[in-house]
Amino acid sequence: MSLDGTYDDGNIFARILRGEIPSARVFEDDHVLAFMDAFPQTRGHTLVIPKYSSARNLLDEEPQVVGPLFLGVQRVARAVRAALMPDGIIVTQFNGAPAGQTVFHLHVHIIPRWDGDAPGRHAAGAMADMAELQALAKVIAAQIS
Ligand code: AMP
Repeated sequence: MSLDGTYDDGNIFARILRGEIPSARVFEDDHVLAFMDAFPQTRGHTLVIPKYSSARNLLDEEPQVVGPLFLGVQRVARAVRAALMPDGIIVTQFNGAPAGQTVFHLHVHIIPRWDGDAPGRHAAGAMADMAELQALAKVIAAQIS
């Protein structure tokens, strides 16, 4: 799917929001939900999504949703740092399949990095163990402030 298209409310993140499929939830407020990426590029790879949105990507999104989304991203990124003490953190998002997007509900990746680590490839790794994701979600959630 390129930049143009129709929002499909059967996408996997819409289903996570509706509780139809499991996720390792880290944080939720009135605007955003954060949960662990199931195919993490590094340990602690977290996703933040707007809860009330039918935007496939950042360009589609209502401006009033973008501010609260990125406040949530900062809050979760700080918690990832406090919980896991990485040396760096990638904050990124992809718009359109040619840019690497694979799930078409706006989302932001928080990917902790450590000196000398070798991150997995985007959307190409093995599915993580849910119990491990839940444990990570718990330690990150404990650092939300
Ligand atoms: P993108 O390719 O930027 O659209 O990112 C989509 C992300 O969703 C990828 O990093 C996938 O690993 C991740 N992902 C796919 N399915 C799930 C799922 N069921 N739960 C959590 N993360 C997922």
